[in-house]
Amino acid sequence: MLNVHHLNFGTLHVPPNPRASCHGLLLEHETGLALVDAGIGLQDCRRPEERLGRALIDASGFQFDESETAIRRVEALGYRADDVRHIILTHADPDHAGGLADFPDADIHISEEEYANLLRGNPRYAPAQFEHAPRWKVHASEARSWFDLPARRLDLGFDSEVLLVPLFGHTLGHCGVAVAVGDRWLLHVGDAYYLRAELADDHHPISALAAMRADDDAMRRASHQSLRRLAADHPDRIALFGYHDFGEFPAESVVR
Ligand SMILES: [Zn+2]
Repeated sequence: MLNVHHLNFGTLHVPPNPRASCHGLLLEHETGLALVDAGIGLQDCRRPEERLGRALIDASGFQFDESETAIRRVEALGYRADDVRHIILTHADPDHAGGLADFPDADIHISEEEYANLLRGNPRYAPAQFEHAPRWKVHASEARSWFDLPARRLDLGFDSEVLLVPLFGHTLGHCGVAVAVGDRWLLHVGDAYYLRAELADDHHPISALAAMRADDDAMRRASHQSLRRLAADHPDRIALFGYHDFGEFPAESVVR
């Protein structure tokens, strides 16, 4: 049986925009733990200027609070770092990858396209967050589909399916993560949108920021359309949520 915890792995705030969460998942299975995204890490909190640089800290509004890091959340649930066997990255941006170094023994799952974008030295990433030599597991495209979208299967040793679902655009290899829970699915859409309200509104004020931050804005908008279709066609089968909207945490989850 898979137990899913929704946890906040950090906070970003650039007024006048609302405070943004780092909504990660802890997948708890008897064979081990997996995280979806790693949030702001301990090293980011301790050496922010060295790891991220002042310009990025200010532009993204990083807030540094050790108690919010994934490692502290994992420990608060009674586990240790080496209980986390897998981390699945939606993409490698600094607010998603900072916690990787706190789990040096975990396998890090990432799409082939995102890995290539990282290796190519795209300046959006923070190289210091990857200096500990992460154990990458790189996933190429497969002849597999999930609700008519392409998908890539992750073998985590769980009896529930976990898939990478390409939602390219925000970055060149950005993916959602689909997790089977009984006969329903969770879909973590990462940064395919910043706020859920964008799905209903083509002219939401945050969309200009999303367009500016996208590696490929046409792909980002196409991914957006895919999510609208999924949300409209399968409301009873798929619960989707993103990384940065505090309003999307289930009521019982630990946000603070
Ligand atoms: Zn982000």
